[in-house]
Amino acid sequence: MSIDPPLSSAAAALTVEVAVVGAGPVGSLVAALLAGCGLTVAVIEAAEPEILCRPASDGRAIAIALSAKRALAAAGLWELMADAAEPILDIRVTDGASPLFLHYDHTQVGDEPLGWIVENEIIKTASLTRLAALPGVTLLAPARVAEWRYGAGGAEAILVDGRQVRAALVVAADGRASPTRAAAGIGIDRWDYHQSGIVCAIAHERPHDGVAHEHFLPAGPFAILPMTHNRSGIVWTESSAAAPAIVAQSDADFLAELASRTGSFLGRVELSSPRFSYPLSLQMARRITAPRLALVGDAAHGMHPIAGQGLNIGIRDAAALAEAVVDVRRLGLDPGSPAVLERYGRWRRFDTLVMLAATDGLNRLFSNAVPPLRLARDLGLAAVNRLPAVKRHFMRHAMGLVGDLPRVLRGERL
Ligand SMILES: Cc1cc2nc3c(=O)[nH]c(=O)nc-3n(C[C@H](O)[C@H](O)[C@H](O)COP(=O)(O)OP(=O)(O)OC[C@H]3O[C@@H](n4cnc5c(N)ncnc54)[C@H](O)[C@@H]3O)c2cc1C
Repeated sequence: MSIDPPLSSAAAALTVEVAVVGAGPVGSLVAALLAGCGLTVAVIEAAEPEILCRPASDGRAIAIALSAKRALAAAGLWELMADAAEPILDIRVTDGASPLFLHYDHTQVGDEPLGWIVENEIIKTASLTRLAALPGVTLLAPARVAEWRYGAGGAEAILVDGRQVRAALVVAADGRASPTRAAAGIGIDRWDYHQSGIVCAIAHERPHDGVAHEHFLPAGPFAILPMTHNRSGIVWTESSAAAPAIVAQSDADFLAELASRTGSFLGRVELSSPRFSYPLSLQMARRITAPRLALVGDAAHGMHPIAGQGLNIGIRDAAALAEAVVDVRRLGLDPGSPAVLERYGRWRRFDTLVMLAATDGLNRLFSNAVPPLRLARDLGLAAVNRLPAVKRHFMRHAMGLVGDLPRVLRGERL
């Protein structure tokens, strides 16, 4: 990878096959998969390289499904984060004080873990390290696009500092607010959950044994996720009205509130990261393609973290788009052609809608204390727990093994 510093005056255009906007986990994965297959890629990222290479903790412990791990491995990313990834061996789902529960045990579907927990900053660091090792990638950072020009043969970005980038295909991987999506005139549908996700890491006395806990409380789901070095990640959903006061508590008060939700099974607990709070909403781009443009990751969709699927779905986008591009490029054809974009759009639309609907439905079903609903969902959990075939199906879903999977998610070569 070469890093292009800003220039003081306009310079000659950089011409590549694909321009990716955003060097987050999804944009970096697209770039790494494409460059690994010999394509030339420019990555346009707004943040300073120093921040990209050494990101601070954002408190997020990300659950990576088995199929997503395979895609990261195919791009040479997984080996850079594997030591910091804790396998999820079991998942236990409980509802308030109900004695009924659901228990997923990885041995019921094979010998691979159900997934892994990795801190977001580790994923980001691994992404940048991988891009740096790929000769086909030029990272332009810090850089922002002032103007896009889309034409029949390609697209041109005029950067704020005068640099120009020309590409056959533009990939918008610039997050939920996606200026690239907005500049292309693509609207979003969005609603606010009026909930916030409070996240932090804790260190504890007793081992977690690789068990992830999802506990449904009236304010929303509360998750305890196993991390390396006897730590766990907390994802604590609260109403947005209550969250700021919880985050602002003293460490002692915060830990006492936490203990009232976790119980005592982890022994003595202390905070091992700062606390962060994220307002939660659902959003979906009205289209995920336009001529010469594809949307991936949070630029295309944003969902509730209830099932830990946001990045996993973004990884599916990256894998599907890379496959569509690489397949035509191997035939010597245009990597940004309408055929590529149509294949990508068709492939991802349904899967994304299903996941958005599932996370939204789960959150609505479980974030309340209406007695008949509670009874119905508790009986549902207990019923699934007693039906091995149904349970295996749900586990395979959580592992990202269901659906029309791109090759790298099936563990095959791109
Ligand atoms: C509390 C919480 C818990 C979560 N837990 C999970 C989980 O367990 N599992 C899971 O799969 N997902 C989880 N997610 C979702 C996951 O974090 C996101 O889906 C994922 O980070 C999206 O990655 P991305 O690369 O699409 O976007 P981002 O990570 O937002 O990256 C976007 C990049 O674009 C850059 N950028 C922005 N604007 C510009 C611009 N104008 N020009 C150039 N660059 C720009 C940014 O600097 C950034 O580098 C969670 C989310 C939250 C809030």
